[in-house]
Parts: sequence; structure tokens; C-alpha cells
Amino acid sequence: MRGLDLVVLRPGELSLKGGNRRFFEKTLRKNLRSLLGGDIPIERLWGRFYLGPIPKGWKGGDARSLAQKAAGVFGVANTSPACRVETSEEAIAEACVALMGEELDRRGEREASFAVRVRRADKSFAKRSMEFARDLGGQLLRAFPGLRVDLETPEIPLGIEIRPEGSFIFLEQFKGAGGLPVGCEGRVLCLLSGGIDSPVAAWQMMKRGCRVDLLHFDSRPFIGEGSLQKVRRLAQSLDGWQGRTRLGVVEFSEIQTRLRDLPKEGYRTVLYRRFMLRIAERIAEEQGHGALVTGDSLGQVASQTLENLRVVASASRGLPIFRPLIGFDKEETMALARKIGTYEISIEPFEDCCTLFQPDQPVTRGKIDVAERLEAQVDMEDLIAKAVEDCRWET
Ligand code: ATP
Ligand code: MG
Repeated sequence: MRGLDLVVLRPGELSLKGGNRRFFEKTLRKNLRSLLGGDIPIERLWGRFYLGPIPKGWKGGDARSLAQKAAGVFGVANTSPACRVETSEEAIAEACVALMGEELDRRGEREASFAVRVRRADKSFAKRSMEFARDLGGQLLRAFPGLRVDLETPEIPLGIEIRPEGSFIFLEQFKGAGGLPVGCEGRVLCLLSGGIDSPVAAWQMMKRGCRVDLLHFDSRPFIGEGSLQKVRRLAQSLDGWQGRTRLGVVEFSEIQTRLRDLPKEGYRTVLYRRFMLRIAERIAEEQGHGALVTGDSLGQVASQTLENLRVVASASRGLPIFRPLIGFDKEETMALARKIGTYEISIEPFEDCCTLFQPDQPVTRGKIDVAERLEAQVDMEDLIAKAVEDCRWET
């Protein structure tokens, strides 16, 4: 008995078929490889992944910590720390008794409720699942008199999966991050402010299989160095969900100055957004991103009314713009931000570029032609071209 020395990983989205499925699994494998480094063997068999066996003294911890870590990868339905034995009644029974003994020792008490759950994917195994589960239950009760059966809510659920490649025995299942493996839906560019919303929007696109590059519009020297540091920390935090995250930084203060000096100050925020969108779209075209992403939520602030979203979007040349938070309440976004680990960074107090020169009375029902007339008063093309050219990428 080697104890729990590997992880059974069950991928999600099992409804995917054919070529999509293969691509999904290949991408998931690549992402697991980059998460785990070279030390842990990864085996893919019949729609499953097996991580391990874990080498002795592995610096990443044990099967349990590996299972928890791997569960955080998009595309994973769930994971279990497990042991693998040959598929025979005797070998499985022996491993179950050994594992139960270890578990009772770990708990430090001999009394516990348990249930045996058998799944038989290898139909050449002679016994039916229910019958085999009862046999095993009987053997465990004889070996450990303090146990009692509770099929509904057992303290120790003992899982057994009988498969062509071997049989797997486990006690725990960690819920996976769900979604699709990062990269299997292509690349998008997310406009990342220092606020609460845009990091959550970026995360949602990662969850649906996009590799998300980040683009920040930087208002220094009007605002301090701290704001950019905060955005970098957000990028770093998001990187935990996809790896190899790139952050582009665009100098925005010159454009803001020009727009500030225009009449109709109520249009300022909307004009900032139109410029951001144009610049982001050109960068996305150059870099091959398939869409832009923002953290807009309908009606949350003046710049996010139906009319103003339209005025902003009309500045684009047609690259899709995704707003995964459009139907979220602030509370829902905040809860998700906490869950994914960006909230604490987002609430650090730093100014953001859009409160800079904020008008007292922002328009709530902007008009496209008014925005266009205002923009005709600046050398728009030059400003945009310069901003695109000067974009600096940090990895
Ligand atoms: P957030 O919390 O993401 O800042 P918000 O509710 O504060 O969102 P706004 O500040 O109006 O809303 O921004 C709307 C969206 O515009 C943001 O979610 C983000 O995608 C984009 N955005 C705003 N400011 C910047 C910036 N300085 N750099 C990059 N993107 C920005
Ligand atoms: Mg904001």
C-alpha cells in the first residue's frame, strides 16, 4: 500500500464532442503541465487525467495539496487524491482496508460513519457495483468495529472507480474551477482599470477558455505611481488563473488633457472611453486578439447607461466587445471578486484616471453626433497612433 500518491482529475464540459474535445484535453494538459512544472507525470486516459505518482519528498506537498491546486485550473470538474491498484477484488479490498485504517488514525478516533460507492467503467469486472460495494462494506465493518454505515451523509465516503487502466480509491473530491481550459477559445484583450469590476470581467473570460491579455490606461503624472503598482498587483493576482499574463500600459494623460480642454465637460468620461476603445481595438488588431473585454455593468455609473454604452461602442470599428458583468449587481461582482482574490487589491485607495477631471454633471444620455463634433476639435488620429505606438508590454 503506497497511500494516496496520485490525483484523479475529472475534466468538465463532458458534452464536448470530437475535435473540440481533443483540443480541450490537449489545452488542459498543457495548462496542467505549466502549473505543475516537470516533476509530476501527467497521464491522460479515457477522458481522465492522472497526476502522479508523486515523487517522494516532492516540494509541492502531497496528493491532497496537489488535488486542491489542480482543482483551481479552468476546465476541471473535480479532483481526488487517490491510490491506484490493479483491478481485482482482493487488491481493491486490501487497499480499502488500508486506506480506511489510515483515515481513522488521522481522525484519531475509531468511530465514524461511512459509505462505499463503487463506479464500474470496466464492465469486464465480474461483480456488479452494488453487490461489490456491499461486500467491501462488510469487510470494512469486520476490520473496524467502530464503523457504521450511513449511505446518505457519511463522514467517510469511500469512492472506488473500476476502470480498464486500473482501479482508483479515494476519500475526497474537490470541486474544480469549471469552465474551459485557458487558451482553447483564443485570445482577448481586457481593459483593466484599478477598480473592482474589470478584474472580474477578465476572470470570467478566462473561465470560458480565453487567454486574456490586459490593457491599462495610465494617467501618470496626474495620478501617482501607486495606481500603476495596484494595477500590476491585480494583473499578478489574475495571473494565478492563467499564467503568462501580459499587461500593456498606454500613456493616457496627454489625451486626457486634450479632452479636458474641450467644451461640454459633461462628455468627458464618455470621450475618454471612446479613445480607450479605439486605442485598445488597434492594439488588439495588431496583436491578434479576437475581442475586447470591459467591466461595464448596465446603469452602474453615468458612463454605463444604455445610451452612453452606445455612444462609446460606436467609436469601435467592429471588433466584438464583451461585457460579462453587464447584468451583475455590484454585490454579485464584489462577491465574485472576493472569491477570485482580486477584491482586497481593488479596494486599496488609489485614484483612477476617470475620476480625474470628472465633470460635476456627466451626461447620462450622450449623443453620438455631439461626441463626434467634440472629437473633431482634436488631432485624434495622431493622438491615437502615438498611444498605440507607445504601448509598453510587461509580462
Ligand atoms: P472598474 O471597477 O472595472 O473600474 P467601474 O465600475 O469603475 O469599473 P468605469 O470606471 O466607468 O467603471 O469603467 C468601465 C470600464 O472601462 C472598466 O471596467 C474597464 O474595463 C474600463 N476602464 C476604465 N478605466 C480604465 C483604465 N484606466 N484602464 C483600462 N481600462 C479602463
Ligand atoms: Mg473604475
